[in-house]
Amino acid sequence: MGLAPETTLPDGRVDAKSLNLSGIRQLVEGIGKEDWRALQIYKWIWKRGASSFHDVDSISRQARAELDHRAWLPMLDLATRLDSEDGTRKYVWRLSDGAYIESVLIPDEEHPGGRRLTLCVSSQVGCAMACRFCLTGDLGLKRHLSASEIANQLLQVQADLGANRRITNVVLMGMGEPLHNLDPVIIATQNMMHNDAMGMSHRKITVSTVGLVPAMKELTARSPVNIAVSLNATTQEQRRQIMPITARWSLAELMDCCKALPLPRAKRITFEYVMFKGFNDQMDDAQRLVELMQGMRCKLNLIPYNENPQRDLRRPSDLTVWRFQDLLVSRGIHTSVRRTRGRDISAACGQLGGAGHLADRVSAADPSAAWRAAQIQAARRGETRHIEDGKGDLLGSPSRSSRATDPPTTVTESAFPNA
Ligand code: SF4
Repeated sequence: MGLAPETTLPDGRVDAKSLNLSGIRQLVEGIGKEDWRALQIYKWIWKRGASSFHDVDSISRQARAELDHRAWLPMLDLATRLDSEDGTRKYVWRLSDGAYIESVLIPDEEHPGGRRLTLCVSSQVGCAMACRFCLTGDLGLKRHLSASEIANQLLQVQADLGANRRITNVVLMGMGEPLHNLDPVIIATQNMMHNDAMGMSHRKITVSTVGLVPAMKELTARSPVNIAVSLNATTQEQRRQIMPITARWSLAELMDCCKALPLPRAKRITFEYVMFKGFNDQMDDAQRLVELMQGMRCKLNLIPYNENPQRDLRRPSDLTVWRFQDLLVSRGIHTSVRRTRGRDISAACGQLGGAGHLADRVSAADPSAAWRAAQIQAARRGETRHIEDGKGDLLGSPSRSSRATDPPTTVTESAFPNA
């Protein structure tokens, strides 16, 4: 198999969940059925979670058999589910070719905008971008995910939660660089947003990128979803050291692109800035960030790095983060600090991609065994089960006040695996 996923079976059947509504219309037209039937089938797939055309009892038995002859409705196979003591939950999915991907569910009861339940979704198996701070990058790119594999993460996690807990936000910040897999990401988000499918607002879906400039322009031209840019540095040389993509599209080109994106009036770009001790956490960096963002409709998320024994990068102190944020806020930049979440299950920023081989050995039918195995694995890696002492003082408080003249500043509770 190449980098593209298989969306057609050897017997010629197509993956109907990798189609948007127009694709379903063509499929239904192919069996000679009316257009309105397509909408009915589309709803069955994404609103009712049908896993086979034989479930669609609002169409004739013959039509069901014909659809089943031409297409199929794949589901992800849950390999294991890990629950963090802070409420974060990681889903590990085994794909049809034996590869693994992960999704992370992050509850946030104290979000200033109201209760939030965010699902962080993967877009590739591994990743080609090789950001120095990210363990997913160590895997290299194995393959892209299909639109079906991307959207099924939302469908199936929501089904697992039941009707009483609704996922409110989706971020494509899991394994992979979403804009390196643009067409499937666009189709998947169409199926997440369509009112006759999963019905999420475009305001609640964010696609993250390291800065693939042409694809950023294409995404904003083709889709209304939010865009987040993983920035992490303030000079070309500094960014090149931790994000190899900077050699292809420079920091200046990236910022020019961000400034020129035709965003609707109500939208802002989000910049993610992972902070590393002694590398990009100085006041000079904060000052350069202010200059980079001058005149842009944007917000900034500061993410203190999650230390990992496999990296020589360090996390800055809370005081450093606080001062850094203060300077930005005082210059009018809307700035939040993310609290680390899900670290005890390797679901925090930059930690995804290691659970697959664990799931191989642990039965999905025994999640407590999976949990124990994860703990043993974490202990072997030398990770502690708890967020380090002192982190909660700054990052654990829901918010701290800023001067009356300052723009709003918050300390959010959500942290996404791969910023
Ligand atoms: S941070 Fe994102 S883009 Fe960079 S290597 Fe990790 S998954 Fe890929």
